[in-house]
Amino acid sequence: MTTTADEGFLRRAIELAATADKSGNPPFGSLLAGPDGTVLAEDHNTSVTDNDITAHPELKLARWAAANLTPDVAAGTTMYTSCQPCRMCSGALERSGLGRVVYALSGDQLNALKPGGGFAPVPEDGPALYDEGRAVVENYYKS
Ligand SMILES: [Zn+2]
Repeated sequence: MTTTADEGFLRRAIELAATADKSGNPPFGSLLAGPDGTVLAEDHNTSVTDNDITAHPELKLARWAAANLTPDVAAGTTMYTSCQPCRMCSGALERSGLGRVVYALSGDQLNALKPGGGFAPVPEDGPALYDEGRAVVENYYKS
């Protein structure tokens, strides 16, 4: 459930999305609010101008949080983002330890607006070579 305060942060994320669009990038923006409601960091999509398919604001803020916040502080933060994080960003958010994500548009709503819809998953095969793959992982986790 979102609050009036959440909606204020979401409106800022939507402003950041407009900034991305004006700078020639896909229209997505995000910010990270601390436990006291202070904006800790904000960013927008730069995937075109950086020529980097991973330059989504959610991923950039997840990386920033992991590098700059203690786990306790990260767990108290909320990411506000103009659109539901994609699968790439969701994976980074899981690893960053952020406490909560609030978004404006859902991924389904975004895909309904995009010509051609969303991205198709890349086919994956596996598991294979379990014993060989397991050995290096077991060795890492023994230490
Ligand atoms: Zn993303």
